[in-house]
Amino acid sequence: MTERLYYKDQYIKEFEAEVVSCVEGKRGFEVILDKTAFFPEGGGQPGDRGVIAGANVTDTVENGDEVIHICDAPVSGTVRCVLDFDRRFSNMQQHSGEHVFSGVLHGMCGFDNVGFHMGENCITVDFNGVVTAEQLAEAERLSNEAVYKNIPIEALYPTDEELANYDYRSKKEIKGQVRLTKIGDVDLCACCGTHVAYTGEIGIIKVLSVMNYKSGVRISLQIGRKAFEDYCDKNRSVYAISNLLCAKTEEVADAVEKLQNRLKESDFRYNALKKELFAEKSKNASGEKCCMFDDGASADDARVFADMIADKVGIAAVFSGNDDEGYKYAVVSRESDVREIGKALNSALSGRGGGKPNMIQGSVAAKKKEIEAFWETV
Ligand SMILES: [Zn+2]
Repeated sequence: MTERLYYKDQYIKEFEAEVVSCVEGKRGFEVILDKTAFFPEGGGQPGDRGVIAGANVTDTVENGDEVIHICDAPVSGTVRCVLDFDRRFSNMQQHSGEHVFSGVLHGMCGFDNVGFHMGENCITVDFNGVVTAEQLAEAERLSNEAVYKNIPIEALYPTDEELANYDYRSKKEIKGQVRLTKIGDVDLCACCGTHVAYTGEIGIIKVLSVMNYKSGVRISLQIGRKAFEDYCDKNRSVYAISNLLCAKTEEVADAVEKLQNRLKESDFRYNALKKELFAEKSKNASGEKCCMFDDGASADDARVFADMIADKVGIAAVFSGNDDEGYKYAVVSRESDVREIGKALNSALSGRGGGKPNMIQGSVAAKKKEIEAFWETV
């Protein structure tokens, strides 16, 4: 049975221990110590990382009463152990912050936290009820107020009798000694994880997003140092956008909307002008066949343009592009089946594409001169 130092003091960063066993497993060397400050994955909190006698601990998991350290090299004897405490502290901030938020929301709406995941980018908490935007904003505000109050976070080990009188949150039936995490009158919850000692250490509690999930909601949160880093990233983005648009930071969304509307108008105008240009270019087209080039037309434009010319000639082709990047093509005819032309075109000019009897589309990797020479043979 591994002695769990993290329940005595969650701030232990370094310690000495005896190796009880070390066997090679699928993920690395599985090391059991007589005592450990490494927290094994549980209750939504990831397992700790760090170093044991020079070997990297890539994960820590639980197996019954034992804590298994997954190491990238074998270790033995008396070992010096060092936790990646920056990561552990961030996990404690997030876990404690999650308790505060879940406790506040539970107090407000009565909903229970039914799923908790601490990911690399953010944490998600699932609740068994749908919350409104106003409730969410209020829960976020009250959670941060609880942080400012710097409330002690305590671990309680109640007797069965005491436990029967407690109103606490719990995801599942627990056998044996129940460990409760108490945060003033904000939250009381059965939990095996590690927590900061005071809510002030949690830092920012920020709701990122909410989505409907099963019969409730999944809420994404940023907490503590991760929330601060997220703030820095977003601040950088907002200032970059603000500079690009010459808009105040608080007005960037409006500025982007204006820009989008202007773009829509420009697109509309551009398309109208393009149609006029095609009509003008195809004005004098006549005869059996006609092939035109346009360097700025999209595949759709080429089709529309070819279709316009096909009103006046037997077979109309439009090639859009340039000699360096190749050409997109559209061939249209009202009377003939143009699929054979397409096949010949693809094989002569390293092309690909096809379509219906009266219209084919594709692209070729050829030069304008080669295309013109080919068109002579059609
Ligand atoms: Zn917990």
